[in-house]
Amino acid sequence: MFISFEGIDGSGKSTQARLLAEALRAAGIDVIHTREPGGSPGAEEIRSLVLEGDPDRWSAETEILLFTAARRDHLEKTIRPALKAGKVVICDRFADSTRVFQGVTRGDLQDKVNRLHDEMIGIEPDLTLLFDMDPEIGLKRAKGRQTAEERFEDFGQDFQEKCRAAFLDLARAHARFTVIDAGREIDVVAREVATLVKSRLDT
Ligand code: ATP
Ligand code: C5P
Repeated sequence: MFISFEGIDGSGKSTQARLLAEALRAAGIDVIHTREPGGSPGAEEIRSLVLEGDPDRWSAETEILLFTAARRDHLEKTIRPALKAGKVVICDRFADSTRVFQGVTRGDLQDKVNRLHDEMIGIEPDLTLLFDMDPEIGLKRAKGRQTAEERFEDFGQDFQEKCRAAFLDLARAHARFTVIDAGREIDVVAREVATLVKSRLDT
């Protein structure tokens, strides 16, 4: 089973992905916990190229190609082998992030993202958990733990509102999405996520 975690910056995806991996491992389930951009040695190198340095270094189109190249390597080296071995793959961001960040916030480029995705990636998660919350609170959380590489984080509320709306549009369009109210306490969200995923694994 392939599960992606999506949402605006500061929505708690990474925290929840880690907690779900721990909960599934404690239940004896074989899990890999990976992330994008990155998740394989080559894709982590591309992550450095896109997330560090001058934010205007790449055009939106070049960025789409770089994120897709990273995803292709991640898929070949990490995701497909794990799925083939019967593992649960928990992925912190996947193609929906590119649909939102490169496809919506840098112009109307989602068709280009989708065409390249169909040609070069050709797989969607079985389940996508969208961590949805008030961007103002997400912003405060993200600011609390900002790291040097997070050059993409604009931290403007308008930007975050636009991303939230674009993620919710995707959730309405695709049945693989479940929207999680991410504005609650960490433990409350984690229990809901673990219950949901375990019930899917049982069916
Ligand atoms: P980003 O996309 O920016 O990497 P993220 O969505 O992965 O962010 P996290 O890194 O998991 O978010 O969390 C951001 C910060 O908010 C961390 O300091 C984390 O401890 C805190 N946090 C996460 N979930 C909650 C929550 N439910 N309530 C309060 N704080 C939280
Ligand atoms: O998820 P994480 O915070 O590690 O992602 C790093 C940064 O890259 C985030 O600020 C996110 O907004 C950005 N990003 C992006 N396009 C993607 C994936 C992530 O702009 N496809």
